[in-house]
Amino acid sequence: MKYNVIHRGDDISIQLMHSFHRLIGQYGLVHEEEHPDVVLSIGGDGTLLHAFHQYKEQLETIAFVGIHTGRLGFFADWKPDEVELLAELMGEAAQQNDLRVVKYPLVEIQITTAQGIETQLALNEFTLKGVDATLVAQLHINDELLETFRGDGICISTPAGSTAYNKSLGGAIVHPSLDAIQIAEIASINNRVFRTLGSPIILPKHHHCDMYPRANQNILLSLDHVYTQRNDILSIRSMVAAGKKVKFARFRPFPFWSRVREAFIGYEPLGENKS
Ligand code: NAP
Ligand code: MN
Repeated sequence: MKYNVIHRGDDISIQLMHSFHRLIGQYGLVHEEEHPDVVLSIGGDGTLLHAFHQYKEQLETIAFVGIHTGRLGFFADWKPDEVELLAELMGEAAQQNDLRVVKYPLVEIQITTAQGIETQLALNEFTLKGVDATLVAQLHINDELLETFRGDGICISTPAGSTAYNKSLGGAIVHPSLDAIQIAEIASINNRVFRTLGSPIILPKHHHCDMYPRANQNILLSLDHVYTQRNDILSIRSMVAAGKKVKFARFRPFPFWSRVREAFIGYEPLGENKS
């Protein structure tokens, strides 16, 4: 089994990377940057997003795992003082050729411009925002007009990303066993003249949402942590990525809802008075 490490660049993450190289070498794993089987991200959830985008052409064969240094991570769910345990469990999995993974759905977007169609993938979400004015875009679901949106923007997230930007927008947390995407509004304008649905909506796989921004608008497009400004977009289609998922290596059970509790509520056990 081959592995690579992607780190945030701070001293603690770099130190942990050196420890990990030393520990995992004892189990015969080989360091390989081009085509690893496991990618260890050391840093924050943002570091894991970097790792995902670096290896997004190889999702079939790569499993990701993350150690969080600093703040509590959601994707990066191993603590720095567990690096020895992680190396041991990864080493055992490699020796027994038994790498357990969980697979999470992704969002795929197809951007249509006068030049053609570009396809992109996101692990958390993509967002569309106006740069110098309110975003105006028609929203169609399965080729039928839903609404004309006016406001700051629109966020389309995966279940794994439902705990990120989407959560700040009042979107629901969605279990990643569901093949779905969620559309959440960012500060829509609603009054007697302009109307949007106002609630986040969840689309199952095989459904699609098309957005047609008003012509020549300057648009800020984000895909996870990557932002680009453009004015050539004719439409954007989003849907659950067909046949493409991200794999996370699971060397011990850590259910999604436990991660939600640890990331957002804390570790405190319930006291006597549970009401
Ligand atoms: P960042 O500003 O560090 O990210 C914002 C926060 O979101 C950080 O605490 C980050 O954790 C956390 N996070 C990332 N993915 C998450 C997930 N799937 N579940 C729960 N928390 C998650 O920027 P970044 O590290 O480059 O990450 C980019 C992401 O930031 C975007 O994909 C978007 O989801 C999120 N974001 C959120 C808002 C908002 O909530 N208003 C606005 C813009 C972007 P770490 O500190 O461990 O990195
Ligand atoms: Mn971050």
